[in-house]
Amino acid sequence: MKYILQVFAGPWHTAFHEPEEIIRTISRIASRIPVDRVIIGWQTDPAVYRTVGAFLRASGIRMLLWLPVFAEVGMISEPDEAADIFGNRIPSPVQDDGADFLFCCPSSGRNLQIVKDIWEKHFSGCGFDGVFLDRIRSQSFVSGVSGVLSCGCARCAEAFGKRGVDLRAVRNRYEMKKDSFFDMVSFPADGYFVTADETARRFFDVKAEIIAGAVTELCDYFKGKGLIVGLDLFAPLVSRFVGQDYALITQRADFIKPMLYRRTDAPAGIGYEYALYEKNAPGAAGRIGISMDKAFLDSQLDAISRVSCEKFPGIEINYRADVVRTDPAYIAESLSAVRDHGFEGAVLCWNMMEAPPEHIDAVAAIGS
Ligand SMILES: [Zn+2]
Repeated sequence: MKYILQVFAGPWHTAFHEPEEIIRTISRIASRIPVDRVIIGWQTDPAVYRTVGAFLRASGIRMLLWLPVFAEVGMISEPDEAADIFGNRIPSPVQDDGADFLFCCPSSGRNLQIVKDIWEKHFSGCGFDGVFLDRIRSQSFVSGVSGVLSCGCARCAEAFGKRGVDLRAVRNRYEMKKDSFFDMVSFPADGYFVTADETARRFFDVKAEIIAGAVTELCDYFKGKGLIVGLDLFAPLVSRFVGQDYALITQRADFIKPMLYRRTDAPAGIGYEYALYEKNAPGAAGRIGISMDKAFLDSQLDAISRVSCEKFPGIEINYRADVVRTDPAYIAESLSAVRDHGFEGAVLCWNMMEAPPEHIDAVAAIGS
């Protein structure tokens, strides 16, 4: 097992930690377990990355920039915002440590250029070995049905239309059927759910194609610069709601980090996101009962195993009493399952600066 550490250094203009503090934390962990890469971002002070980067290079650890793509960028630029298919702005009810979760449009070439410009302006001279693309999705049920039925802006309407989906028809369909728009013929654990409604099915297919197209363009851009590219993905079960098709979106990626967050009561937490589907479409038929147990984890790992790039499932190591109630037994169970699936390793998420020492003990006890 190789490990990738995820370090939140703060949002764009706010540094949460001194570089020396980050180095001390990584150094302490790397003395216990094999650390292959560190994902760090996305505050923009280059001094942090130069100092931390020098330490990482000397330690044989690669440094990747944690770079949000379709959210957060509105805090330092003016992207083309996403809209829902009803023509409304998508609300962002979640505020968490400077993360804004306000999504922008995946069809906008200007939005992709903004991400490239952010890289060039703030990060290209900082010695990164790669980038880790986050928020490569639409909003989820966190913003209600509006989040999932997006992006529906004029640009996206055209992109959908080219692929044979009329967004006005999708809107009419939803308004006529409401909850039963989300009736499922099948809802397998790998997330490739099949809706009874053909229009709904095509909407989710094409939404995933549009997002995968944008991600592929960014992968090619960064790989053209000799960088390795990783992707932050929703767990398979809930990925299709946000336009992430594992087969399509991973085509040009070097590795993926599926967020197998079974203890997170916040966006991207699997049970959290699935419960929001149930809450926002309570009358939908074909919903499934899930429990966040070991068998469920295995079902997610089985689904991930079909992808051909490197697989580093993301396991929460940090602890917060309100949103992420992890413990050493949970970490041991999760990492043992990843190891038993024969994957390259795991990403220890999502902020090593908040990981209790006994959680690192649990990781070390797994062995390699
Ligand atoms: Zn759009």
